[in-house]
Amino acid sequence: MTKKTAESVWNNCLAFIRDNVSTQAYKTWFEPIKAVRLVDNSLSIKVPSKFFYEWLEEHYVKLLKVALTKELGSGAKLVYDIRMENTPDNKTAYTEKLPSSNQQKPQSQDVALPPKKDSDTILNPFVVPGIRNIKIDSQLNPNYNFDRFLEGESNRLARSAGMAVANKPGGTSFNPLLIFGGVGLGKTHLAHAIGLEVKEKHPEKTVLYITSEKFTQQYIDAVRRNARTDFIHFYQVIDVLIVDDIQMLSGKAGTQEVFFHIFNHLHQNGKQVVMTSDKAPVDMMDIEKRLLSRFKWGLSAELHNPNFETRKRIILDKLYQDGVQMPEEIIDYLANNITTNVREMEGAIISLIAHATLDKQDVTIELAKRIIKSYVKTTKKEMSIDFIQETVSDYFDLDVETLKSKTRKRHIVQARQISMYFAKKFTKASLASIGSHTGKRDHSTVLHACKTVDNLTSTDKEFKKYVDELQQKLSMHN
Ligand code: ADP
Ligand code: MG
Repeated sequence: MTKKTAESVWNNCLAFIRDNVSTQAYKTWFEPIKAVRLVDNSLSIKVPSKFFYEWLEEHYVKLLKVALTKELGSGAKLVYDIRMENTPDNKTAYTEKLPSSNQQKPQSQDVALPPKKDSDTILNPFVVPGIRNIKIDSQLNPNYNFDRFLEGESNRLARSAGMAVANKPGGTSFNPLLIFGGVGLGKTHLAHAIGLEVKEKHPEKTVLYITSEKFTQQYIDAVRRNARTDFIHFYQVIDVLIVDDIQMLSGKAGTQEVFFHIFNHLHQNGKQVVMTSDKAPVDMMDIEKRLLSRFKWGLSAELHNPNFETRKRIILDKLYQDGVQMPEEIIDYLANNITTNVREMEGAIISLIAHATLDKQDVTIELAKRIIKSYVKTTKKEMSIDFIQETVSDYFDLDVETLKSKTRKRHIVQARQISMYFAKKFTKASLASIGSHTGKRDHSTVLHACKTVDNLTSTDKEFKKYVDELQQKLSMHN
C-alpha cells in the first residue's frame, strides 16, 4: 500500500467532489484549493481567503465531510489554512478571527461540527432594545433580485460576495463590500439584490438602499434644518446600509465627513455596509484618504463586461421575462454585437420588441441589424485620451509631442494638466494609464493635475474660460 500524502488524499477527494458539483462550482471553489499537510487523519488545505473558507463551510461542508471520511475514516478532520494576499495594513490577519484558531489547539476544525461562527461577535451594550423595530422603508426595487441577476465569469466574485454578505450581514470579512465597475454592468441591480436577500433571510434587520446623491441632499437639508444629529442617528440604527454610486461623494467634504462618522459607527457595531462605485478605490478622486482607507478594509469586487455566453443568457432571460420568443440566430446576433454593457443590450431588446409588436413586423435579422445600427450610433462613443490630447493641443496651438514633453514652461504645463483632467473626466482610463499616455508620468502627477485644474477653475477666470470652451468642444464630439 502506498503511503497517503496530503496531495493524494486531496486528489481523491477532488475526484469525488467533481462528480457531485457543477463544473462551474468545481472550478470556482475547489480548483484553487491546495492540500498542504496531512497529520494522522487531519488534512490541511490552503484556501485563498476567509471568504472562501466561509463559502465552503456554508455550502460544501457536507460534501467535504463525506469525501474526507471516505479517505481518512470517521475521525477525519479538515483544517483550513487561510492565506490573504493583501491583508489590510491596519488589521491583523484574518486567520486570527477564525473559530479554529481561537481554540486552545489552534488550526483544528472538525468538519463534523460546523463552526460557531457568531460566538466571537460581541454584542453592543449600547443598542437600545426595541429601537430596531422602527419601520424604515428600504427603498428596494423588487425586480432587482438575485434570481434575475444572472451569473457569469464577469460577475461571479461580486455576486458570490454579495450573496455571502446577504446571508450573514456584518458577519463576513466583506465589510464593507464595495462593488465597482463601468456603467450599466449591474452595480445597482446587485446592490438591490443584496438588500432584498437580507430582508428575506433576516426579516428583523433594517435595510436601507440610498444613492449618494440622495444621501448628500438629505444631509444638506438636515444641516439647513439644524438636524444634523438626527440625521446621523437615523443612519446609525440601520443594520445594512447600501450606498449606490459612492464616487458621487467626491469633492463633497462635508458629506464625506458625516458618512465617515456613520460608517465607523456601523462598522464598529458589526453592521454591514455595501457600496457601489464606477471606479476602483485607487482611482477615486477627491475622496478623503481616511475614508478611502476604510473602503479597503473589506472586499472590493469588480464587475466586468459579460462574455458572449453570459450576454446570451441575459438576453434569453429578459425575453423570457417579457414573454417574447425570438429565433436563436437573432439572439446570437444581439449577443455578438452589443458588447459594451447590459443596459445597452436591454435597450436594444426593448426597441426590437417594440418594433416587432407596434409595427407588426416580424423579428428578423434584418430588423435586428437596422435597430442595432441606429441604436449603436446614438449611444455615446467613448472618447480616447489621444483625441483629448489632440483637441487640447490644437486649442492652445501646440503639437501633441510638446504637450507630452518634459518642458516646464507654464502655459504648456497648464495645457498638459488640462488634458489629463479631461482624460480623467471623459474616459474610463485609470490615473496610471492617463499618466503613461502623457509622456510616462505617474498617477500622482495626474491626480495633482486634476486638483490643480479644479482649483484654478474656481480662482482664475481666464483659466476657467479655457476649460469651459474646451469642455464644450469635447462634448460636441461626444
Ligand atoms: P449600473 O448600476 O452598474 O450602471 P445597473 O445595475 O443599472 O448598472 O444595470 C443596468 C441594467 O442591466 C439593469 O436593468 C440590470 O437589471 C441589467 N443587468 C446588469 N447585469 C445583469 C445581470 N448579470 N443579469 C441580468 N441583468 C443584468
Ligand atoms: Mg447604477
